Amino acid sequence: MKNKPTYTIIAPIYNEIDNIQLLYTRISEVMAQTGEPWEFVMVDDGSSDGSTEAILELKAQDDKVKPVIFARNFGHQIAVTAGLDYSKGDAVIIIDADLQDPPEVILDLIQKWKEGFEVVYAVRSKRVGETWFKLFTASAFYRLIQRITDVNIPMDTGDFRLLDRKVVQVLNGMREKHRFLRGMSVWVGFKQTGVEYERAERFAGETKYPLKKMIRFASDAITGFSYFPLQLAMYLGFISTGISIISILVVLVLCLAGSQAFFGQATTLIAVLFLGGVQLISIGLLGEYIGRLYDEAKGRPLYITRENMEVEG
Ligand code: UDP
Ligand code: MG
Repeated sequence: MKNKPTYTIIAPIYNEIDNIQLLYTRISEVMAQTGEPWEFVMVDDGSSDGSTEAILELKAQDDKVKPVIFARNFGHQIAVTAGLDYSKGDAVIIIDADLQDPPEVILDLIQKWKEGFEVVYAVRSKRVGETWFKLFTASAFYRLIQRITDVNIPMDTGDFRLLDRKVVQVLNGMREKHRFLRGMSVWVGFKQTGVEYERAERFAGETKYPLKKMIRFASDAITGFSYFPLQLAMYLGFISTGISIISILVVLVLCLAGSQAFFGQATTLIAVLFLGGVQLISIGLLGEYIGRLYDEAKGRPLYITRENMEVEG
């Protein structure tokens, strides 16, 4: 194999023992069709089901396989980031390990890259075998992101995409802790295009994105690319100030007219609870940003590998 591969395939792997072998076989078949040298960076994100051993076994059989083994679970986006750090190809392709992204689509991505595009993202034209809940939350998420962030993140794209080396270099310099890679790879600019594909069912295993992780992922995406939640406090402030000014006038007029409608405790209680709620929400939103600032300030590494992996070579 030539020292420098043309293509790097990156797969983040978290407990995907039943998918690894087929993933490797299908990617190998597809990549053989390109006739060019390639490498397969398999990032083990702290698996505990034997995926780690399976990856190391593949490496023993095929030196195109480059394992990156994390010391613990750092999360999908960080695993992909590590893959980008270790990649050497002129074009880098990020793909899920569960075969929901059909490896055959890689050839279409490469085709567009050869036409001169530097970011080629795969757009899900159809999703098979996912729950209505996943479909609904995913669609609501993309619409919300589209509305409130200042980058134009294409609808229904995942991390399945091809990035030119130039883009990878820029991304590797962006060391933010809370990462939303599909936003970051749009933010950098360059010539971008999409390729449609049908998202398949998971080959084996369960989703590694439970609701809690999805919520964290969504809030990273929003806080990473938008100040809207911070401004929300101001909007709510204006609205409640407006309402209270109107209420004062109404109560004054009613009192002058001799009405006793506002002598009770209930109105006071409702007003206090309402404002208390608004203030707590606003403080909570502030907290989200401050927490992220704090994470940045600590300056910890994005991930820890179990042993020193060779970066150069
Ligand atoms: N993944 C990971 N770390 C995690 C969660 C997921 O590396 O903490 C990997 C997982 O192994 C898979 C990819 O990220 O290759 C996408 O995860 P999944 O298929 O569970 O997400 P979904 O397709 O359900 O959104
Ligand atoms: Mg999946």
